[in-house]
Amino acid sequence: MSTPAAIDAIAGATPVERLRALRAAVPGRIVFTTSFGIEDQAITHLIATAGLDFELATLDTGRLFPETYELWDRTEARYGRRIRAFQPDRDALEAYVGSNGVNGFYNSIELRQACCAIRKVEPLGRALAGAEAWVTGLRADQSGDRGAVALAAWDAEYRLVKVAPLFDLSRDQVVAFAEAEHVPISPLHAKGFTSIGCAPCTRAIAPGEDERAGRWWWEQGAKECGLHVDGSGRLVRDDDARAAA
Ligand code: SF4
Repeated sequence: MSTPAAIDAIAGATPVERLRALRAAVPGRIVFTTSFGIEDQAITHLIATAGLDFELATLDTGRLFPETYELWDRTEARYGRRIRAFQPDRDALEAYVGSNGVNGFYNSIELRQACCAIRKVEPLGRALAGAEAWVTGLRADQSGDRGAVALAAWDAEYRLVKVAPLFDLSRDQVVAFAEAEHVPISPLHAKGFTSIGCAPCTRAIAPGEDERAGRWWWEQGAKECGLHVDGSGRLVRDDDARAAA
């Protein structure tokens, strides 16, 4: 079982070095969750081309853009790797839509969070069950809320090591990497979608806006869905790992 002590062994100057260090430090299952944004596509490319035996998973909320499903298919074909889908619990979803309507998430923050809990957070728990490490495409400069994202941290919620191999890269660096390596990316990025989530909850951003401003644009405050926050709503970060050690 991984412990916070493994975090110190996860290092490296480049993202692929960090992924290799993670593989060496953690003997058990490592899960990479992708939502097919450009950061995730870069990581899929690195995992596949380096031949790392990480599990690739995605949360198929049922409300993704058609472009995302097309890119999912194209990515599997390009890399010869299956990306396992985790879908919402049918009974929970039927009850939610039955009570709140198909777009009930627009009506309040609580209903939006309840939708994310059913369509994303619960399936994520199944995706990570039994894993020792979780790889994400988080970057520190995606938003003010993500400014404290670390390369590796102990996630007390899921009891595993959470790794963000692109944590210190800028968006421009990721874009340059994707172009140089001919990584398949979503056509939505060229239309102003910097962060891509569910179709009804994501819009393009205007020049100068925060990268995640297009997520749940009708709400004020932090732009997170519950996947990367602890029980108190804070983003999991490196000092949490030290506290848990
Ligand atoms: Fe539901 Fe929107 Fe959250 Fe997707 S992003 S799970 S549609 S509230």
